[in-house]
Amino acid sequence: MHCPYCSAPDSRVINSRPSDEGASIRRRRECQSCSRRFTTYERTQLEPLMVVKRGGVRQAFNPDKLLRGLLLAAEKRPVEEGALRAFAYSFEDEVGRPEISSEDIGRRAMAFLRPLDDVAYIRFASVYRDFDSVEHFLEEIQGLRRSDGEAAGQDTASGEKSSGGSGAS
Ligand SMILES: [Zn+2]
Repeated sequence: MHCPYCSAPDSRVINSRPSDEGASIRRRRECQSCSRRFTTYERTQLEPLMVVKRGGVRQAFNPDKLLRGLLLAAEKRPVEEGALRAFAYSFEDEVGRPEISSEDIGRRAMAFLRPLDDVAYIRFASVYRDFDSVEHFLEEIQGLRRSDGEAAGQDTASGEKSSGGSGAS
């Protein structure tokens, strides 16, 4: 807790006592550097982030659940577990509002995974979007390839056109 007067990082607690009928704790502090006094309040976060599911059911956000989904998608892929962990556990703060739809969580997680690893992204997307058909799944992969080509800024169409039926035996 930085001193509001001189921004020094260290302050000494002179006394602390409950306030708001125990809902918060009031601490009187003295700056170690300039000796001025100020008050801080510590209170519990009463309202967790609520997830609104497809059917309208609301549920408290669970970072462990999000992390499980990410770990599963990134299994045996060159993705730092720490990065996934950081994303899941800072998610609630990043959202910064009281509610989020489960679709929005999925979208944000996909946007996070995509630059890290294509395979993890596709795995996560396939679960999240609940692909209803192989065609839909392939469309998504082709979308990835297209944007990879754009990102590289190179023309990779060196006779790889496979627009015809290629399954003739
Ligand atoms: Zn100070």
